Formats: sequence, C-alpha cells, structure tokens
Amino acid sequence: DGTLDTARAEAWIRALAAAVAAHEAELTALDAAIGDGDHGSNLRRGFEAVLATLDDAPAASPGALLATTGSTLISRVGGASGPLYGSAFRAIGHALAVPDPDAGERPATGAPAVAAALAEGLAAVQRLGGAQPGDKTMVDAFAPAVEAFRAAAGDGVAAAARAAAAAAEQGATATVPMVARKGRASYLGPRSAGHRDPGAVSTALVFGALAAACRG
Ligand code: ADP
Ligand code: MG
Ligand code: MG
Repeated sequence: DGTLDTARAEAWIRALAAAVAAHEAELTALDAAIGDGDHGSNLRRGFEAVLATLDDAPAASPGALLATTGSTLISRVGGASGPLYGSAFRAIGHALAVPDPDAGERPATGAPAVAAALAEGLAAVQRLGGAQPGDKTMVDAFAPAVEAFRAAAGDGVAAAARAAAAAAEQGATATVPMVARKGRASYLGPRSAGHRDPGAVSTALVFGALAAACRG
C-alpha cells in the first residue's frame, strides 16, 4: 500500500513507456482495423519524448512529474490520443500537487488522493473529447478503472491499482461489440464493431503499469 511517491510515479511512467513500446505493433494493428493505423507509433514516440524529459531532470514531486508527462504528450503526439492522454496526466499531476491541509504543506498522495486525481484525469478526457461510456473509446477502460480504484482505495494504492488494472482490461475487452461514436472509428459506423478499441487497450496498459509500479 503506502503512497504514490515520486519514485513510484516515475516507475509508473517508465513502466508505461516500456509497455507502449512492447505493445506498439498490437496497438497499431488494432488502429489499422478501425482507424488509421498509427496509435502504437503515436504513443511510442510520445513516451520516448517523456523518457527524455525524465532523464534530463529529476522530478520534485509526483504531481510535477505527471504534469510534465502530460505536457510532453500534448506537444509531441500528433493524433487524438496525445491531447487526450496529455490532458489526463496533466490533470492527475495538478490534482496531486494541491497541498493537503491535514498534511501541512505537503500534498496528499495516499490512495484516496490518487483516486480523486485519477477521477480528474478521466474528467479531463471527457471534457476534451466529449465521449461517454459505451462510445467505444479509451473512456470505456478509463471509467471502470477509476471506479475500481476508488472502491478499493481503503485497501491502499497497491491493491487499488491492481483492481483498477483488472477493470481497465475488462473495459477494453467490453469494447469489442460496441459501435464507435467518437474518433476516427466512428466514420466506420457499424463496421467498427468486432474489434477492441485501440485507446481502450492502451488505457489498460496505463493502469497495468500503475499496478506494477505500486506493487514494490
Ligand atoms: P487518431 O485517431 O487521431 O489517429 P490515435 O490513433 O493515436 O489518434 O488514437 C485513437 C484512440 O483515441 C481511439 O482508439 C480512442 O480510444 C481515442 N479517442 C479518439 N477520439 C476520442 C474522443 N473524442 N474521446 C475519447 N477518446 C477518443
Ligand atoms: Mg490513429
Ligand atoms: Mg492518426
């Protein structure tokens, strides 16, 4: 359990960058089926840029690290997923940077604070993209993950992140029969059914990496 401290936040983003690189071909194949076939390369290039910022300067706090990650994704990823994931990580980082009155000037990074920050990340995605659950987007993995994290927050960040990762996986699988109503896949109409949404699959990587980082 414990908190999402700076070391764990960095481990999260490094694990996510590694997962994106390992799954680049899979994400691109999913996007080739219902989009334009660039989701894997978009994210791989974006997270390579993120790794460069991490190597350049040590982060002062989990909030700063995640906000910088978000800004880098916004500026370096062409395609819908860059601004969406970028806004999510920026919102998560900003939420974690707010000082906790109960913790003096130090920001809270325990499981309830992380749950609230992840909810801010989801809200940012939905504000920018306008997708609701069922529209066959990353929201279909992100929303159940946030809810599962919140429900398990009493058990600490490691258990909550594990629950969130499982929920995100299930959410990605549940996109198979959906017909896309947002993003490029929506241009296909009913022909978008029968495939997992690439962004929902990459969101499962996001929460899988969080669980891996919090396990230690
Ligand atoms: P692009 O579609 O511009 O090529 P990517 O291929 O990198 O961008 O990302 C596609 C993914 O982005 C989709 O699988 C979907 O999950 C997500 N996405 C697209 N539009 C939206 C939206 N309006 N709201 C939420 N997620 C979206
Ligand atoms: Mg694409
Ligand atoms: Mg594209």
